[in-house]
Amino acid sequence: MKILIVEDQVRLGQFLKQGLTECRYTVTWVTTCKEANDALADAPQDVIILDLGLPDGDGLDLLREWRSSGFTEPVLILSARDTVADRVKGLDVGADDYLQKPFSLDELLARIRSLVRRQSTVKQTTLEHNGVRLDLLGHTVRLNGQPIDLTSREYALLEIFMQNHGRILPRTLIAEKIWASNYDVDTNLLDVYMSRLRSKLETTPGKQLFKTVRGVGYQLV
Ligand code: CA
Repeated sequence: MKILIVEDQVRLGQFLKQGLTECRYTVTWVTTCKEANDALADAPQDVIILDLGLPDGDGLDLLREWRSSGFTEPVLILSARDTVADRVKGLDVGADDYLQKPFSLDELLARIRSLVRRQSTVKQTTLEHNGVRLDLLGHTVRLNGQPIDLTSREYALLEIFMQNHGRILPRTLIAEKIWASNYDVDTNLLDVYMSRLRSKLETTPGKQLFKTVRGVGYQLV
């Protein structure tokens, strides 16, 4: 599940990113309207958390633009603007929910789950391939029916493979999605994670799930 956070206040942005990552969401955090547009053009999101007062514009204008260009991602406005009129305006412009600051992380998480549930009636909620079953709502993984315990990074990595099974995924692309773009792909962190995933999922002798494509990346076969 991918969540885009648009929040210019650094401490709050870090707190949200960490809190949501711990709940196994794949989080992209940006601080400006421009970066938000780029991130959304780059990849579809499951939920967007939108601050209103941004350094290069107003979140409401951004949301209005998204809706008129056909972006239907659920948007939760997270703002200190707390009058009824503010909330009505936000919802009228196209937000799906509105939470005022200060907020409790528990409530934010519950509202995100609710937005995801509403979406899930029309979207796929499980991915299955080769005996691996990934539940996108519960963030759980089963291998041939047996629950598998993965860390949040391992889960995020597996989700990328499951969304793209059969495709050869370049190392740089995987690393960008999991560790953000400043990750140095020359390090072998990715290999470490791949070997952990393999040890947890390739439990049938002789049956390979992930193929290493030398000099390129990996493939879920
Ligand atoms: Ca702000």
